[in-house]
Amino acid sequence: MSLVVVGSMAFDDIETPFGKSNKIIGGAATYIALSASNFKKPIKQISVVGGDFPVEELEALSNRGVDLEGVQIKKDKKSFYWSGRYHMDMNTRDTLETQLNVLGEFVPIVPESYQDCEFLMLGNLLPEVQLSVIRQLKHRPRLIAMDTMNFWMETAADDLKKVIREVDVLMVNDSEARELSGEFSLVKAAREILKMGPEYLIIKKGEHGALLFHKQQVFFAPALPLEEVFDPTGAGDTFAGGFIGHIARSKDISFENMKTAIVVGSAMASFCVEKFGTQRLQEISQDDIDERIQEFVQLVNFDIALI
Ligand code: AMP
Repeated sequence: MSLVVVGSMAFDDIETPFGKSNKIIGGAATYIALSASNFKKPIKQISVVGGDFPVEELEALSNRGVDLEGVQIKKDKKSFYWSGRYHMDMNTRDTLETQLNVLGEFVPIVPESYQDCEFLMLGNLLPEVQLSVIRQLKHRPRLIAMDTMNFWMETAADDLKKVIREVDVLMVNDSEARELSGEFSLVKAAREILKMGPEYLIIKKGEHGALLFHKQQVFFAPALPLEEVFDPTGAGDTFAGGFIGHIARSKDISFENMKTAIVVGSAMASFCVEKFGTQRLQEISQDDIDERIQEFVQLVNFDIALI
């Protein structure tokens, strides 16, 4: 039984108040796989790249236990490209350019060896592609989680709503939750979004943590207060990778275990922001991860005597 990850693999060009990355490797599926592979192997990846995508980067993923059979390589075409600029507060960014390139005409093919999919993580990319992957699976996975972004709310709203109807867990950030629901209050926004299909909704609030909504229940996990945030790109995807990686390892899809998964996701995201792009995720060890998760436990652990 396996974990299948779908999403973009990309070249990113990032500008923060601290510097410029120039063209580096990114993409939702890249971050998700790098993060999730700390908890579960193999990660069965579905994506598309152009002939310009470095072979060494594919090899590095494969060495970490990422199965690339579902990654199409279009030799004569260019990979997806995204560039963005962060504002001084690092919580907000402007997309400067999105070139879909190979992603724009991507027709995913789910390999036969991925049909044992038990957990499906639909990372950010065209809703039509996300839907096609769900439809190609002969057995419905035990849990389908999905991440998306405002770009698709603005360019493919109808397809997006169709996918949202099919998933168990939806992850969006606070501004996307507001855009999707038309509600400013996140509690009202969550109520509206849960009516659209998913059983669980995670609203990511960057340095202010993440909220998990399920029926009438709400859980909140803070983000680790970090001295320096260098580059938040990919933090949402890294969070998703930690979340689904923990769920796939434990095979437990209860609300209680999702709380732990959110803490694991938040711990992984806290590494991602420490350096440009995927750099920090490539360096960390299992000990670093365990230590970081303990820091989270300490952060929220307190006794209270009620009088
Ligand atoms: P995050 O910071 O978690 O929102 O993710 C950033 C990653 O998403 C970058 O590495 C980009 O390559 C990728 N990305 C940006 N825009 C899109 C898009 N429209 N579709 C798919 N991936 C995207």
